[in-house]
Amino acid sequence: MTTTLDLAGIGIGPFNLSLAAQLDSIDGLHVRFFERNARFDWHPGMMLPGVELQTSFLKDLVTATNPTSPWSFIAYLVAHRRFYEFLNADFEAVPRQEFARYLAWVAERLSTLRFNCAVREVGFNGELFTLAFGHETRTARNLSIGVGLVPQIPDWARLILGSKGFHSSEAAHRLGDMEGRRIAVIGGGQSGAEIMLHLLSAPRAGAEITWLSRRPNFQPLDDSPFVNEFFTPHYVERFHRLAEQRRAATVMRQKLAGDGISLSTLRAIYRRIYELKHFSAGPEIGLLPHREVLELTQDRDEVRLVMRNGFDGGIEMLSADMIVLATGYRYEIPECLAPLREKLALDDNGHVRLASDFSAKWDGPANRHIFVLNGGRFSHGIAEPQLSLMAWRSAVIANALVGRPHFDTEPASQLVQWTGDDGRSRLRNAAGLRA
Ligand SMILES: Cc1cc2nc3c(=O)[nH]c(=O)nc-3n(C[C@H](O)[C@H](O)[C@H](O)COP(=O)(O)OP(=O)(O)OC[C@H]3O[C@@H](n4cnc5c(N)ncnc54)[C@H](O)[C@@H]3O)c2cc1C
Repeated sequence: MTTTLDLAGIGIGPFNLSLAAQLDSIDGLHVRFFERNARFDWHPGMMLPGVELQTSFLKDLVTATNPTSPWSFIAYLVAHRRFYEFLNADFEAVPRQEFARYLAWVAERLSTLRFNCAVREVGFNGELFTLAFGHETRTARNLSIGVGLVPQIPDWARLILGSKGFHSSEAAHRLGDMEGRRIAVIGGGQSGAEIMLHLLSAPRAGAEITWLSRRPNFQPLDDSPFVNEFFTPHYVERFHRLAEQRRAATVMRQKLAGDGISLSTLRAIYRRIYELKHFSAGPEIGLLPHREVLELTQDRDEVRLVMRNGFDGGIEMLSADMIVLATGYRYEIPECLAPLREKLALDDNGHVRLASDFSAKWDGPANRHIFVLNGGRFSHGIAEPQLSLMAWRSAVIANALVGRPHFDTEPASQLVQWTGDDGRSRLRNAAGLRA
């Protein structure tokens, strides 16, 4: 007989790993996290040479709310005897490989993690959650859903998937033995940029490399101080209090705060193209921002894209041998939660409605929680899919789980007054006058 868990985590990416690391500091809890893969591996399909973290290494699994935890990035550096070398290297951005190794190091050491355990189905028997894996089941009082996002494949691309195209999440495995001379990379985010840089680093003879994006230009991540205020607990709290429609509109306006290209990657691409253009008989390079793909057809070995040019309004055509879809990721309620789907309250975007402590609003007992990680873009804001606040979010969830403030998660005093309640100045809410 196995005992009932206080919390069962589904999926072990960075977000549930952070929760597991934070819960490790609380005695007497019985928790397990389950991952379908054999070991922790952070986005291996995009682990191309030279890729960099877009976030400070201090925004690790634990530090923001638990700086003395043994599971910090600095603890990892010390354990590997490279604290001084790391400092001397003076990275502007930490190599993603280094951060992935840190995450894997923690994952190898926490005793609450179970790999090779795909959760097939989750039900609720009126009192407890039931998790089915293969022929086994486990029961749990609470759940933490950390299954990540799924690749976004545009409908027009389904036809060629596999043979003539692939999603960026497979890039590291597919770019090496790609056939064909003419390659089109579709997508103007960080993944598209990293793939472009990789293709330009050692182009094949006679290659034609085209980069196209729906965005009006190849645009940088907005990493400026006031924009970074969106990635603070204080902002997230204020954002969560907004009406649902206002939140959705706000998120749409903040795209480049979370989903732009690192300036260093943009510079590296530009400089590399300069070298190839002026100092070698390099490949033919096409840079096509402001293009929206309308249609894709395949004629034998050739793929043809029909695009609308958002700059001059024209319709254009491009032929390629291979397409790389750097078209991002989307939220999806995982298949294993199908038996609970009817009980979950959804918002207009099809996301599970989340309370401020990241628990789903659902038709079930108030003392049974389904915490959702990486699903709150429209409830908690654009920080949700990023590493930035994971340590704080895990601490908020941990407090909700144990029913007391084990971690201090109170936001620091705020710099920006997002609402009239934010005090300190002569600003006051004048509810009666609100337009
Ligand atoms: C290439 C790339 C680079 C990124 N770089 C940064 C960055 O520099 N800074 C930043 O802030 N953010 C970055 N992000 C965004 C974000 O931090 C990552 O996507 C992060 O991995 C999200 O963590 P997660 O735990 O939600 O999901 P994931 O990392 O996707 O992990 C989910 C896990 O759940 C498992 N799983 C799914 N279903 C089941 C099931 N039924 N049973 C068991 N296991 C299951 C999966 O196998 C997977 O291991 C990046 C994203 C990508 C794609």
